[in-house]
Amino acid sequence: ATRSFDAIIIGAGAAGMYCAALAGQQGSRILLVDHASEPGRKILISGGGRCNFTNIGATADNFLSANPHFAKSALGRYTPADFLALVDRHRIAWHEKTLGQLFCDGSARQIVAMLLDECAAGGVENAFGQAATVEHRDGSFDVTIGTATARAPALVLASGGLSIPKLGATGFAYDVARRFGLKIVEPRPALVPLTLSGGQALFSTLSGVSAEVVASAGKGRFREAALFTHRGLSGPAILQVSSYWLPGQPVTVDFLPDLPRGWLRQAKRVEPRSTVRRMLGRHLPDRLAGTLAEQLALAGELANIPDRRLDDAERRIAEWTFTPNGSEGFAKAEVTIGGISTAELSSQTMQSNRVPGLFAIGEAVDVTGWLGGYNFQWAWASANAAAQALART
Ligand code: FAD
Repeated sequence: ATRSFDAIIIGAGAAGMYCAALAGQQGSRILLVDHASEPGRKILISGGGRCNFTNIGATADNFLSANPHFAKSALGRYTPADFLALVDRHRIAWHEKTLGQLFCDGSARQIVAMLLDECAAGGVENAFGQAATVEHRDGSFDVTIGTATARAPALVLASGGLSIPKLGATGFAYDVARRFGLKIVEPRPALVPLTLSGGQALFSTLSGVSAEVVASAGKGRFREAALFTHRGLSGPAILQVSSYWLPGQPVTVDFLPDLPRGWLRQAKRVEPRSTVRRMLGRHLPDRLAGTLAEQLALAGELANIPDRRLDDAERRIAEWTFTPNGSEGFAKAEVTIGGISTAELSSQTMQSNRVPGLFAIGEAVDVTGWLGGYNFQWAWASANAAAQALART
Protein backbone atom coordinates (compact mmCIF):
# COMPACT_ATOMS: atom_id res chain seq x y z
CA ALA A 1 0.00 0.00 0.00
CA THR A 2 1.11 3.53 -0.67
CA ARG A 3 1.36 5.82 2.34
CA SER A 4 0.81 9.55 2.04
CA PHE A 5 2.88 12.35 3.54
CA ASP A 6 2.94 16.11 3.16
CA ALA A 7 6.60 15.96 2.19
CA ILE A 8 9.34 13.38 1.68
CA ILE A 9 12.88 14.50 2.44
CA ILE A 10 15.77 12.54 0.92
CA GLY A 11 18.96 12.73 2.97
CA ALA A 12 19.15 12.65 6.76
CA GLY A 13 22.18 14.89 7.03
CA ALA A 14 22.33 18.34 8.59
CA ALA A 15 19.89 20.02 6.20
CA GLY A 16 17.45 17.12 5.82
CA MET A 17 17.11 16.40 9.54
CA TYR A 18 16.62 20.04 10.44
CA CYS A 19 14.09 20.65 7.65
CA ALA A 20 12.15 17.53 8.73
CA ALA A 21 12.11 18.67 12.36
CA LEU A 22 10.93 22.22 11.62
CA ALA A 23 8.27 21.20 9.11
CA GLY A 24 7.07 18.36 11.35
CA GLN A 25 6.77 20.66 14.34
CA GLN A 26 4.59 22.97 12.26
CA GLY A 27 2.17 20.13 11.57
CA SER A 28 3.43 18.65 8.28
CA ARG A 29 3.58 14.86 8.02
CA ILE A 30 7.19 14.18 7.03
CA LEU A 31 9.03 11.08 5.87
CA LEU A 32 12.82 11.37 6.20
CA VAL A 33 14.73 8.93 3.97
CA ASP A 34 18.42 7.98 3.93
CA HIS A 35 20.26 5.10 2.30
CA ALA A 36 22.65 5.01 5.25
CA SER A 37 21.42 3.27 8.37
CA GLU A 38 22.92 5.96 10.59
CA PRO A 39 21.82 9.60 10.07
CA GLY A 40 24.17 12.58 10.12
CA ARG A 41 27.44 10.74 9.55
CA LYS A 42 29.17 13.88 8.27
CA ILE A 43 28.09 15.77 11.34
CA LEU A 44 29.71 13.07 13.48
CA ILE A 45 33.14 13.49 11.87
CA SER A 46 32.86 17.27 11.43
CA GLY A 47 35.11 19.68 13.24
CA GLY A 48 37.40 16.84 14.31
CA GLY A 49 34.47 15.16 16.11
CA ARG A 50 33.31 18.34 17.88
CA CYS A 51 31.24 19.80 15.01
CA ASN A 52 31.89 23.42 14.16
CA PHE A 53 28.12 23.91 13.97
CA THR A 54 28.01 27.57 12.97
CA ASN A 55 30.03 30.75 12.64
CA ILE A 56 28.75 33.77 14.53
CA GLY A 57 29.86 36.13 11.77
CA ALA A 58 28.24 34.23 8.88
CA THR A 59 26.88 36.42 6.06
CA ALA A 60 26.40 35.78 2.35
CA ASP A 61 29.94 37.14 1.83
CA ASN A 62 31.33 33.90 3.28
CA PHE A 63 29.85 31.77 0.50
CA LEU A 64 30.66 30.94 -3.11
CA SER A 65 27.90 30.56 -5.69
CA ALA A 66 27.29 31.43 -9.33
CA ASN A 67 24.79 33.90 -7.82
CA PRO A 68 26.41 35.46 -4.74
CA HIS A 69 23.10 37.11 -3.74
CA PHE A 70 21.07 33.90 -3.63
CA ALA A 71 21.97 32.87 -0.07
CA LYS A 72 21.09 36.26 1.47
CA SER A 73 17.40 35.61 1.95
CA ALA A 74 17.67 32.27 3.76
CA LEU A 75 20.72 33.35 5.80
CA GLY A 76 18.99 36.59 6.77
CA ARG A 77 15.91 34.78 8.05
CA TYR A 78 17.81 32.13 10.01
CA THR A 79 20.92 33.41 11.74
CA PRO A 80 23.73 31.79 13.71
CA ALA A 81 22.04 33.19 16.86
CA ASP A 82 18.90 31.25 15.98
CA PHE A 83 20.81 27.97 15.80
CA LEU A 84 22.75 28.82 18.94
CA ALA A 85 19.45 29.31 20.79
CA LEU A 86 18.49 25.77 19.79
CA VAL A 87 21.85 24.40 20.97
CA ASP A 88 21.41 26.23 24.29
CA ARG A 89 17.87 24.92 24.68
CA HIS A 90 19.34 21.42 24.44
CA ARG A 91 21.95 22.36 27.03
CA ILE A 92 24.85 21.51 24.74
CA ALA A 93 28.00 23.21 25.99
CA TRP A 94 29.99 25.04 23.31
CA HIS A 95 32.96 27.35 22.87
CA GLU A 96 34.31 29.74 20.27
CA LYS A 97 37.61 28.48 18.89
CA THR A 98 38.83 31.23 16.57
CA LEU A 99 37.37 33.51 13.92
CA GLY A 100 33.79 33.10 15.18
CA GLN A 101 33.84 29.30 14.88
CA LEU A 102 31.55 27.61 17.42
CA PHE A 103 32.25 24.01 18.49
CA CYS A 104 30.68 21.58 20.96
CA ASP A 105 32.73 21.21 24.13
CA GLY A 106 31.80 17.54 24.15
CA SER A 107 30.99 15.72 20.94
CA ALA A 108 29.33 16.12 17.55
CA ARG A 109 27.06 13.26 18.67
CA GLN A 110 25.19 15.86 20.73
CA ILE A 111 24.22 17.75 17.57
CA VAL A 112 22.94 14.60 15.89
CA ALA A 113 21.02 13.63 19.06
CA MET A 114 19.54 17.14 19.21
CA LEU A 115 18.37 16.96 15.59
CA LEU A 116 16.85 13.50 16.14
CA ASP A 117 15.05 14.79 19.26
CA GLU A 118 13.70 17.71 17.26
CA CYS A 119 12.54 15.29 14.53
CA ALA A 120 10.80 13.13 17.13
CA ALA A 121 9.09 16.24 18.54
CA GLY A 122 7.78 16.88 15.02
CA GLY A 123 6.51 13.32 14.61
CA VAL A 124 8.89 12.73 11.69
CA GLU A 125 8.92 9.17 10.34
CA ASN A 126 12.28 7.72 9.35
CA ALA A 127 13.18 5.26 6.63
CA PHE A 128 16.91 4.66 6.99
CA GLY A 129 19.21 2.00 5.55
CA GLN A 130 17.63 1.40 2.15
CA ALA A 131 18.03 2.96 -1.28
CA ALA A 132 15.14 4.97 -2.67
CA THR A 133 13.89 5.77 -6.17
CA VAL A 134 11.71 8.70 -7.17
CA GLU A 135 8.90 8.95 -9.73
CA HIS A 136 6.76 11.97 -10.50
CA ARG A 137 3.09 11.15 -11.23
CA ASP A 138 0.10 13.48 -11.49
CA GLY A 139 1.83 16.22 -9.54
CA SER A 140 2.87 13.84 -6.74
CA PHE A 141 6.23 12.36 -5.92
CA ASP A 142 6.29 8.60 -5.41
CA VAL A 143 9.30 7.37 -3.50
CA THR A 144 9.92 3.62 -3.48
CA ILE A 145 11.97 2.26 -0.63
CA GLY A 146 12.43 -1.50 -0.82
CA THR A 147 8.91 -2.85 -1.29
CA ALA A 148 7.15 0.19 0.24
CA THR A 149 5.97 3.29 -1.59
CA ALA A 150 5.40 6.73 -0.09
CA ARG A 151 3.64 9.56 -1.88
CA ALA A 152 3.72 13.30 -1.24
CA PRO A 153 3.06 16.55 -3.09
CA ALA A 154 6.50 17.79 -2.02
CA LEU A 155 9.97 16.27 -2.34
CA VAL A 156 13.03 17.83 -0.69
CA LEU A 157 16.45 16.93 -2.10
CA ALA A 158 18.81 17.05 0.87
CA SER A 159 21.28 14.34 -0.07
CA GLY A 160 24.32 16.63 -0.14
CA GLY A 161 27.26 16.77 -2.56
CA LEU A 162 29.93 14.36 -3.76
CA SER A 163 32.56 14.81 -1.07
CA ILE A 164 33.68 11.73 0.84
CA PRO A 165 31.99 8.87 -1.05
CA LYS A 166 33.22 6.57 1.73
CA LEU A 167 30.67 8.24 4.03
CA GLY A 168 27.82 7.59 1.62
CA ALA A 169 27.94 10.70 -0.60
CA THR A 170 26.23 10.20 -3.98
CA GLY A 171 25.12 12.36 -6.87
CA PHE A 172 21.48 11.48 -6.08
CA ALA A 173 20.24 15.07 -5.78
CA TYR A 174 21.97 16.06 -9.04
CA ASP A 175 20.58 13.00 -10.86
CA VAL A 176 16.99 13.68 -9.77
CA ALA A 177 17.35 17.39 -10.51
CA ARG A 178 18.71 16.63 -14.00
CA ARG A 179 15.83 14.27 -14.70
CA PHE A 180 13.47 17.15 -13.95
CA GLY A 181 15.43 19.38 -16.32
CA LEU A 182 17.15 21.49 -13.66
CA LYS A 183 20.59 22.89 -14.46
CA ILE A 184 23.60 21.73 -12.47
CA VAL A 185 26.68 23.88 -11.93
CA GLU A 186 29.61 21.50 -12.54
CA PRO A 187 30.48 20.02 -9.13
CA ARG A 188 34.12 20.09 -8.03
CA PRO A 189 35.97 19.36 -4.81
CA ALA A 190 36.47 22.31 -2.44
CA LEU A 191 38.05 22.82 0.98
CA VAL A 192 40.55 20.25 -0.22
CA PRO A 193 44.36 19.86 0.00
CA LEU A 194 46.23 20.82 -3.18
CA THR A 195 48.94 18.65 -4.72
CA LEU A 196 52.29 19.73 -6.16
CA SER A 197 54.26 18.07 -8.93
CA GLY A 198 57.88 16.90 -8.92
CA GLY A 199 59.25 20.29 -9.96
CA GLN A 200 58.04 21.76 -6.70
CA ALA A 201 58.90 18.65 -4.74
CA LEU A 202 61.61 20.45 -2.81
CA PHE A 203 58.79 21.40 -0.49
CA SER A 204 57.98 17.77 0.19
CA THR A 205 61.00 17.79 2.50
CA LEU A 206 58.90 20.17 4.60
CA SER A 207 56.12 17.64 5.17
CA GLY A 208 54.53 18.36 8.56
CA VAL A 209 55.73 21.98 8.84
CA SER A 210 53.05 24.63 9.27
CA ALA A 211 53.11 28.43 9.37
CA GLU A 212 50.62 31.26 9.61
CA VAL A 213 50.47 32.78 6.12
CA VAL A 214 48.29 34.77 3.79
CA ALA A 215 47.34 32.49 0.89
CA SER A 216 45.54 33.64 -2.24
CA ALA A 217 44.07 32.11 -5.38
CA GLY A 218 41.68 33.85 -7.72
CA LYS A 219 39.47 36.12 -5.60
CA GLY A 220 40.16 34.15 -2.42
CA ARG A 221 42.57 35.54 0.15
CA PHE A 222 42.88 34.03 3.64
CA ARG A 223 45.13 34.49 6.61
CA GLU A 224 45.38 31.20 8.46
CA ALA A 225 47.80 28.32 8.90
CA ALA A 226 49.25 26.52 5.87
CA LEU A 227 50.64 23.02 6.20
CA PHE A 228 53.15 21.28 3.95
CA THR A 229 52.25 17.64 3.28
CA HIS A 230 54.08 14.88 1.46
CA ARG A 231 51.75 15.47 -1.50
CA GLY A 232 51.59 19.26 -1.47
CA LEU A 233 49.83 21.90 0.59
CA SER A 234 47.06 21.76 3.16
CA GLY A 235 45.98 23.51 6.38
CA PRO A 236 43.09 25.96 6.75
CA ALA A 237 44.59 28.72 4.54
CA ILE A 238 45.08 26.30 1.65
CA LEU A 239 41.71 24.56 2.11
CA GLN A 240 40.07 27.99 1.97
CA VAL A 241 41.82 29.08 -1.23
CA SER A 242 41.20 25.66 -2.85
CA SER A 243 37.55 26.73 -3.22
CA TYR A 244 38.68 29.66 -5.38
CA TRP A 245 41.42 27.78 -7.21
CA LEU A 246 40.97 26.47 -10.75
CA PRO A 247 43.30 23.93 -12.41
CA GLY A 248 46.26 25.63 -14.05
CA GLN A 249 46.08 28.67 -11.79
CA PRO A 250 48.78 29.61 -9.28
CA VAL A 251 48.42 29.86 -5.51
CA THR A 252 50.38 32.66 -3.87
CA VAL A 253 51.60 32.48 -0.30
CA ASP A 254 52.92 35.35 1.81
CA PHE A 255 55.07 33.61 4.42
CA LEU A 256 55.67 36.75 6.49
CA PRO A 257 52.47 38.81 6.34
CA ASP A 258 53.29 40.74 9.53
CA LEU A 259 56.66 42.16 8.55
CA PRO A 260 56.76 45.71 7.11
CA ARG A 261 58.17 46.44 3.70
CA GLY A 262 61.94 46.86 3.84
CA TRP A 263 62.41 44.64 6.88
CA LEU A 264 65.44 42.88 5.38
CA ARG A 265 67.16 46.19 4.57
CA GLN A 266 66.38 47.28 8.10
CA ALA A 267 67.87 44.04 9.46
CA LYS A 268 71.00 44.66 7.41
CA ARG A 269 71.44 48.08 9.09
CA VAL A 270 70.85 46.78 12.61
CA GLU A 271 72.63 43.42 12.33
CA PRO A 272 75.00 43.53 9.35
CA ARG A 273 76.76 40.31 10.44
CA SER A 274 73.57 38.27 10.42
CA THR A 275 72.33 36.22 7.44
CA VAL A 276 69.09 35.84 5.51
CA ARG A 277 68.84 32.29 6.86
CA ARG A 278 69.10 33.51 10.44
CA MET A 279 66.63 36.35 9.93
CA LEU A 280 64.06 33.98 8.41
CA GLY A 281 64.65 31.58 11.29
CA ARG A 282 63.50 34.26 13.70
CA HIS A 283 60.06 34.46 12.14
CA LEU A 284 59.45 31.02 10.63
CA PRO A 285 59.70 27.36 11.64
CA ASP A 286 63.34 26.35 11.29
CA ARG A 287 62.95 23.83 8.45
CA LEU A 288 60.87 26.29 6.41
CA ALA A 289 63.40 29.08 7.01
CA GLY A 290 66.18 26.75 5.82
CA THR A 291 64.37 25.73 2.64
CA LEU A 292 63.35 29.29 1.73
CA ALA A 293 66.88 30.56 2.36
CA GLU A 294 68.27 27.83 0.10
CA GLN A 295 65.83 28.77 -2.64
CA LEU A 296 66.68 32.45 -2.31
CA ALA A 297 70.37 31.57 -2.65
CA LEU A 298 71.57 34.59 -0.68
CA ALA A 299 74.47 33.24 1.34
CA GLY A 300 76.80 35.26 3.49
CA GLU A 301 76.44 38.27 5.74
CA LEU A 302 73.64 40.76 5.13
CA ALA A 303 76.24 43.54 4.92
CA ASN A 304 77.53 41.99 1.68
CA ILE A 305 74.15 41.65 -0.03
CA PRO A 306 72.98 44.61 -2.12
CA ASP A 307 69.70 46.23 -0.95
CA ARG A 308 68.13 45.53 -4.33
CA ARG A 309 68.65 41.79 -3.86
CA LEU A 310 67.24 41.95 -0.34
CA ASP A 311 64.16 43.71 -1.77
CA ASP A 312 63.81 40.94 -4.38
CA ALA A 313 64.09 38.30 -1.67
CA GLU A 314 61.42 40.04 0.39
CA ARG A 315 59.09 40.15 -2.58
CA ARG A 316 59.60 36.43 -3.26
CA ILE A 317 58.86 35.58 0.37
CA ALA A 318 55.70 37.70 0.22
CA GLU A 319 54.55 36.31 -3.13
CA TRP A 320 55.77 32.73 -3.19
CA THR A 321 53.96 31.11 -6.09
CA PHE A 322 53.01 27.46 -6.41
CA THR A 323 51.16 25.95 -9.33
CA PRO A 324 49.32 22.92 -7.95
CA ASN A 325 48.89 20.07 -10.42
CA GLY A 326 45.60 19.09 -8.83
CA SER A 327 43.79 18.48 -5.58
CA GLU A 328 43.25 15.43 -3.41
CA GLY A 329 39.75 15.21 -4.93
CA PHE A 330 36.34 14.28 -3.58
CA ALA A 331 37.89 11.57 -1.38
CA LYS A 332 39.40 14.33 0.81
CA ALA A 333 37.25 17.39 0.03
CA GLU A 334 35.18 18.73 2.93
CA VAL A 335 32.59 20.09 0.54
CA THR A 336 31.46 20.16 -3.06
CA ILE A 337 31.35 23.45 -4.88
CA GLY A 338 28.67 23.74 -7.57
CA GLY A 339 25.50 21.64 -7.59
CA ILE A 340 21.86 22.41 -8.34
CA SER A 341 21.87 25.85 -9.96
CA THR A 342 20.40 28.61 -7.81
CA ALA A 343 18.82 29.97 -11.02
CA GLU A 344 16.40 27.03 -10.75
CA LEU A 345 15.29 27.81 -7.19
CA SER A 346 13.40 30.45 -5.27
CA SER A 347 15.76 32.04 -2.76
CA GLN A 348 12.75 32.51 -0.43
CA THR A 349 11.58 28.89 -0.36
CA MET A 350 14.28 26.76 -2.05
CA GLN A 351 11.52 25.44 -4.32
CA SER A 352 12.11 24.74 -7.99
CA ASN A 353 10.71 27.40 -10.32
CA ARG A 354 10.12 24.72 -12.94
CA VAL A 355 8.76 21.79 -10.92
CA PRO A 356 6.23 22.77 -8.22
CA GLY A 357 6.75 20.79 -5.03
CA LEU A 358 10.42 19.99 -5.70
CA PHE A 359 12.83 21.57 -3.20
CA ALA A 360 16.62 21.41 -2.79
CA ILE A 361 18.56 22.40 0.34
CA GLY A 362 22.00 22.15 1.91
CA GLU A 363 25.14 21.21 0.05
CA ALA A 364 23.22 19.81 -2.94
CA VAL A 365 22.63 23.44 -3.96
CA ASP A 366 25.27 25.63 -5.61
CA VAL A 367 26.04 27.52 -2.38
CA THR A 368 29.33 26.65 -0.70
CA GLY A 369 30.67 28.14 2.50
CA TRP A 370 34.16 28.89 3.67
CA LEU A 371 35.80 26.62 6.21
CA GLY A 372 34.67 27.49 9.74
CA GLY A 373 31.05 26.51 10.40
CA TYR A 374 29.58 28.28 7.38
CA ASN A 375 28.50 25.13 5.58
CA PHE A 376 26.40 23.96 8.50
CA GLN A 377 24.89 27.44 8.82
CA TRP A 378 23.80 27.16 5.18
CA ALA A 379 22.35 23.70 5.89
CA TRP A 380 20.27 25.09 8.81
CA ALA A 381 19.22 28.28 7.01
CA SER A 382 18.22 26.61 3.73
CA ALA A 383 16.40 23.89 5.72
CA ASN A 384 14.48 26.59 7.58
CA ALA A 385 13.51 28.38 4.34
CA ALA A 386 12.13 25.16 2.85
CA ALA A 387 10.40 24.12 6.10
CA GLN A 388 8.56 27.45 6.37
CA ALA A 389 7.36 27.05 2.78
CA LEU A 390 6.27 23.43 3.41
CA ALA A 391 4.30 24.49 6.47
CA ARG A 392 2.40 27.09 4.40
CA THR A 393 1.25 24.60 1.77
P1 FAD B 1 25.07 15.80 4.30
O1 FAD B 1 25.27 16.17 5.72
O2 FAD B 1 26.20 15.29 3.51
O3 FAD B 1 23.87 14.75 4.29
C1 FAD B 1 23.45 14.11 3.13
C2 FAD B 1 22.73 12.84 3.51
O4 FAD B 1 22.17 12.28 2.34
C3 FAD B 1 23.65 11.78 4.11
O5 FAD B 1 23.11 11.31 5.32
C4 FAD B 1 23.72 10.71 3.03
O6 FAD B 1 23.81 9.40 3.57
C5 FAD B 1 22.38 10.90 2.32
N1 FAD B 1 22.38 10.41 0.95
C6 FAD B 1 23.34 10.58 0.01
N2 FAD B 1 22.99 9.94 -1.12
C7 FAD B 1 21.79 9.37 -0.89
C8 FAD B 1 20.93 8.55 -1.66
N3 FAD B 1 21.27 8.20 -2.92
N4 FAD B 1 19.77 8.12 -1.11
C9 FAD B 1 19.45 8.44 0.16
N5 FAD B 1 20.23 9.21 0.95
C10 FAD B 1 21.40 9.67 0.43
N6 FAD B 1 30.90 22.07 7.85
C11 FAD B 1 30.83 22.95 8.86
O7 FAD B 1 30.07 23.92 8.78
N7 FAD B 1 31.58 22.77 10.01
C12 FAD B 1 32.42 21.71 10.15
O8 FAD B 1 33.02 21.52 11.23
C13 FAD B 1 32.56 20.80 9.07
N8 FAD B 1 33.44 19.76 9.15
C14 FAD B 1 33.49 18.87 8.12
C15 FAD B 1 34.41 17.82 8.20
C16 FAD B 1 34.49 16.88 7.18
C17 FAD B 1 35.50 15.77 7.25
C18 FAD B 1 33.60 16.99 6.07
C19 FAD B 1 33.61 15.97 4.97
C20 FAD B 1 32.72 18.05 5.97
C21 FAD B 1 32.66 19.00 6.99
N9 FAD B 1 31.78 20.10 6.90
C22 FAD B 1 31.73 21.00 7.94
C23 FAD B 1 30.84 20.26 5.79
C24 FAD B 1 29.45 19.78 6.23
O9 FAD B 1 29.57 18.50 6.80
C25 FAD B 1 28.48 19.71 5.04
O10 FAD B 1 28.49 20.91 4.32
C26 FAD B 1 27.07 19.43 5.55
O11 FAD B 1 27.03 18.17 6.19
C27 FAD B 1 26.07 19.44 4.40
O12 FAD B 1 24.80 19.08 4.90
P2 FAD B 1 23.75 18.35 3.98
O13 FAD B 1 22.65 17.97 4.89
O14 FAD B 1 23.46 19.16 2.80
O15 FAD B 1 24.50 17.03 3.45
